[in-house]
Amino acid sequence: MVGWVEGHHAKRGPRAPPKLLDYRQRLGLFLVGLAAMLRMVLDPPYQLCKQPDRPGTYYTSARNPLKWLVLYQGFHGASERPMTVEPSPSTIGLLLSGGLDSSILLGHLLRDGRRVQPFYVRCGLRWETSERRQVDQFLHALAGPRLAELVVLDLPLADLYGDHWSLSGRGVPGLASPDTAVYLPGRNALLLVKAALWCRLHGIEELALAVLAANPFADATPEFFAAFEALLRRGTGGRVRISRPFGRLAKREVMELGRGLPLELTFSCIAPRDGLHCGQCNKCAERMAAFAAIGADDPTPYATRLKGDSPIFAGTIAARCRPPRKSGQSP
Ligand SMILES: [Zn+2]
Repeated sequence: MVGWVEGHHAKRGPRAPPKLLDYRQRLGLFLVGLAAMLRMVLDPPYQLCKQPDRPGTYYTSARNPLKWLVLYQGFHGASERPMTVEPSPSTIGLLLSGGLDSSILLGHLLRDGRRVQPFYVRCGLRWETSERRQVDQFLHALAGPRLAELVVLDLPLADLYGDHWSLSGRGVPGLASPDTAVYLPGRNALLLVKAALWCRLHGIEELALAVLAANPFADATPEFFAAFEALLRRGTGGRVRISRPFGRLAKREVMELGRGLPLELTFSCIAPRDGLHCGQCNKCAERMAAFAAIGADDPTPYATRLKGDSPIFAGTIAARCRPPRKSGQSP
């Protein structure tokens, strides 16, 4: 009876705070928390940010300074999600420099019904401010549902190229210089590496660049591109095909494909003056010759322009305009 009365009174009296967890559960939680904290210290994850326009994809940025405030489990879960989306076979990446060849290739791919993802690689070279302005104008002129927004990839080269003419502006190859004079060390590998990885991370299986048949450099050969593809596949476990739709074409044939495109919005110069083509550099000579080769008026507003009957024009520009020799034809 006594026990019943005590129990009865105990029910009516003030309640003791309920024990949610016993000591073993508390110890377990403490150990789990400790393990999570140790993982954060020993192996701090990179911050993974959602791509706003591509659900399910992430990009890595600097280490998250607020990592201590982030729920470990949620963060850990994000890092284990795949960083790729479903493949988009109809989309083709394109390295766009703003020059005649890559701009014409953009128009050509769009005419072919492809969805194009253009890339501009910003290396800090001397002409890029003028070039980029023209890239934006050309893209605006060709805007449509199958032309994706330009992706700009930063790849500063000042620490690598030093006082090279492409950065210093001193000793820029002139009108009469050979094509080999405008070689930029490692140019194609540098342009490709970030764009190809971008494609790999976004499910784009093909990346195009506008290399022509006459490109004289070792990093524009079929062997180079095959090796680059193999390297990328080995490093990432997936394939991005590097394609060169103009790889068998001469400049003149590419220019024929460009008829009807707003080529006045393209940019070729490596020594621009006040945003204009200089009219005095190797690339300006190539540009003048390209329009001359198809008998088209050159719409480019040059800062200075050679007259067609000047010795340099006759000797250099006109030589570039000769149609390619057919096999069996004497030189
Ligand atoms: Zn120029």
